[in-house]
Amino acid sequence: MTATISQPKPENSKSVPQGGTPGETTVCVIGAGIVGVNCALAAVKEGFKVTLIDRIAPGEACSFGNAGILAEWSFVPTFGPEVLRSVPGYLLDPKGPLTIRWARLPHILPWLLRMLRFASVSHQRRAADAMRHLTIGCSDAYGALAAEAGAPELVRRDPVLQVYDNESDFKKAEADLAFRASYGIKYQALDRKELTDLEPALGPDFKWAHALLGGGTTTNPGRLTKVLAEAFVKRGGTLKQGEVRGLARQADGGFRIETSDGVLEADRIVLAAGAFSHKLAALLGEKIPLGTERGYHAILADPGVQVNHAVGWKARAFYASPMEMGLRLAGTVELAGLEAPPDYARVKVMTELVPKLLPGVKTEVSTQWMGFRPTLPDSLPVLGPSSVAPGLFHAFGHQHVGLTCGPATGRVIARLLKGEAPNVDLTPFRADRF
Ligand SMILES: Cc1cc2nc3c(=O)[nH]c(=O)nc-3n(C[C@H](O)[C@H](O)[C@H](O)COP(=O)(O)OP(=O)(O)OC[C@H]3O[C@@H](n4cnc5c(N)ncnc54)[C@H](O)[C@@H]3O)c2cc1C
Repeated sequence: MTATISQPKPENSKSVPQGGTPGETTVCVIGAGIVGVNCALAAVKEGFKVTLIDRIAPGEACSFGNAGILAEWSFVPTFGPEVLRSVPGYLLDPKGPLTIRWARLPHILPWLLRMLRFASVSHQRRAADAMRHLTIGCSDAYGALAAEAGAPELVRRDPVLQVYDNESDFKKAEADLAFRASYGIKYQALDRKELTDLEPALGPDFKWAHALLGGGTTTNPGRLTKVLAEAFVKRGGTLKQGEVRGLARQADGGFRIETSDGVLEADRIVLAAGAFSHKLAALLGEKIPLGTERGYHAILADPGVQVNHAVGWKARAFYASPMEMGLRLAGTVELAGLEAPPDYARVKVMTELVPKLLPGVKTEVSTQWMGFRPTLPDSLPVLGPSSVAPGLFHAFGHQHVGLTCGPATGRVIARLLKGEAPNVDLTPFRADRF
């Protein structure tokens, strides 16, 4: 990344009108993951002149390889006192759901220490109250978007199953789901017979389960992102490939965007560069403590067993999701920052565990993958106006639920671009909250 070009000091950001005029205002969305594509599509639908830029093709970074769950119920941060208590056990278990690359610890320690401040039930409850506005309703939204884009097969509205191999995990989940039900989430406890009626291939240890209702899945998150990017282009949006290397505000209040493929100018920027967004915000002088939780997937193109629903093994933190390309095992967390190469030992863990979930499964891996979940210390995204650069809007940091939060994030950004009050209280998502 090159140095920042000129840096006019922003005037009082509150006095600068940030809303634009459809048909006139130019908008550059940086990042064509599922979040940026949703923002770009929502903005072009409002009539803005939108350019979507990414250094790679749409949907090829973190949005490529997720578990595909439209997790309307996932508005409570995973990281809380219970996970904190379990961390030592996780780290001692080579097949545990969390691992740390110790050599990278000095780099990630400041972010990890900040995270500890948010490991409280009171924070989880406050965060849930904010996040539910971004998760609930996403399945209907994706159903409509995929249908409009001519690919309705990409969105399924089947229940998602959460399964347990011991009663204590089931009871804990029961209490947690009761809290989520207070926000309207629907679920059903299943006994072994009800479970195997839905999933005959499940192993005998899984005697307890919940069916999570009202959400859904996508059968291919990468293709979903690409299809929505194509819909954006069909509506008149411009898709460009190039790496953004410099950002600067101009005297007229607009932005100069230096890319590997030349210079762009835009009246507004939407920053949706996933786990790399803080690097670009820093070019305009904004410090945001974004970190990353890396996750992995394995594709079993020929699993040899029939799996009808996405099945989450909560204690092991991965899903077995039936997808267009086969059975995808996706999940787990590795803390190792942005620079270290992937360590596919995480994939091996999932393939070693999956025969207990699905006896008889063929564990030959056809492809393996690693992605960077963008995560802030309080597990909430940064969404809304920049705190230093009027006209810059942030849309990143959706950690484990970026696919789920895409449509609502796009709607918020479209309203901000029009200068309208957002339909969601953005205070918990402010860039300067740390
Ligand atoms: C294993 C795993 C399972 C998951 N499962 C789920 C799930 O089931 N449901 C769910 O809701 N979420 C899930 N997630 C989380 C979800 O995938 C992410 O939150 C989401 O993909 C983030 O989307 P994004 O658009 O913010 O980032 P990305 O998809 O990473 O997109 C950011 C884009 O910005 C581009 N970019 C970065 N820097 C620059 C630059 N300087 N110039 C140009 N372009 C740039 C990148 O190339 C990239 O394309 C999972 C994640 C993982 C890893």
